[in-house]
Amino acid sequence: MPVFTPEYLHKVAYQIYRAKGVSHDEAEVVATHQIKANLVGHDSHGVIHIREYVERIDRGHIVPGAPFVVEKEAPCTAVINGNWGFGFVVTERAMRMAIEKAKTHGVAAITIHFQSHIGRLGDYPTMAVQEGMIAMITADSGAGPKAVAPFGGRGRRLGTNPICFGMPSDLEGTVLLDMATSAVAAGKISLARSRGEQVPPGWLIDKDGNPTTDPEDYRAGGAILPVGADQGHKGYGLSFMVEIFSGLLTGLGFGLDPQARHNDGVFIAVFNVEHFRPLDEFKKEVKEFAEFVKTSPPAAGFTEVLYPGEPEYRTEQTRRRDGIFVEDETWEQITTMMKDLKVEAAVGQP
Ligand code: NAD
Repeated sequence: MPVFTPEYLHKVAYQIYRAKGVSHDEAEVVATHQIKANLVGHDSHGVIHIREYVERIDRGHIVPGAPFVVEKEAPCTAVINGNWGFGFVVTERAMRMAIEKAKTHGVAAITIHFQSHIGRLGDYPTMAVQEGMIAMITADSGAGPKAVAPFGGRGRRLGTNPICFGMPSDLEGTVLLDMATSAVAAGKISLARSRGEQVPPGWLIDKDGNPTTDPEDYRAGGAILPVGADQGHKGYGLSFMVEIFSGLLTGLGFGLDPQARHNDGVFIAVFNVEHFRPLDEFKKEVKEFAEFVKTSPPAAGFTEVLYPGEPEYRTEQTRRRDGIFVEDETWEQITTMMKDLKVEAAVGQP
């Protein structure tokens, strides 16, 4: 598998989007989010999606430069129509808007409908964390294709319905719980297939509802399970609520329409810590809390306790130093696109 610097992969993604008519600003935003996903170790949300986004542009399912329309607004709330723009661009702008509202009013909540994939959720709450705020974001797939079976069922009825919380602190890394409410993000099933690997037990059932570790069974009509294994009712319950926040509160609706465009319905909430207690005290105490939790002696099979977000923080340090590996199949797709779009010279050598 080839290994690249983040700067090189950024140039690759940026030039491909520019060749597809995406503006400088939007290509920068999309490339930055994708490479960050690779950097923190979530390759399922990194450059592996470039070809898919290019195909969506071709089909009109992503509309570069789409107008960002505020359909409804009050001091603490807003409803955004992304008009099928890049999810990264629309959600980043909506998060900035929520942060501005929370600066004045202490809290803000925003819903977004009609936008494409928003990738790794962690980036958006991190924007608020950098401003001394707590943030939460949820996303679903509206009436689009489903991936996850409800607890007790074997048919796909839910998206992977991610939820993410970010907390400001004095720790070096960002305290970030960023998770699919399914046993795994759907992208990790495709990644395992691309890499010719089996997936761990507990992630998938086949079309007849039997447990399986073969990622091909997912394509053949199987489903991803909710997070929680034998306690899967809790992951399912979380997923149900995420669907209501991001699918129903946004007005996107629910259901199963295989023809529907991928539509990341999003709910954002931001809480300005200063409106509750002094920020420096809060940040110090969150650090102390994490350090206290980490004093737990490790359980069998573990070497230490980590805080949420710490694995990504550590992976980012390593990958900035050692580079990012890209699986052969993805790299082949990318080099073909670079040739077809005649951007090899602009990208230059790794
Ligand atoms: P994951 O299971 O790798 O991690 C989930 C959370 O657990 C993270 O916050 C991580 O820091 C924490 N964690 C992991 N190991 C830990 C440990 N040993 N100790 C303490 N904390 C630990 O993530 P996932 O559920 O596979 O999701 C992967 C990514 O996929 C996320 O970034 C998510 O936003 C993204 N996603 C996006 C969509 C979308 O539609 N845009 C859908 C699903 C998932």
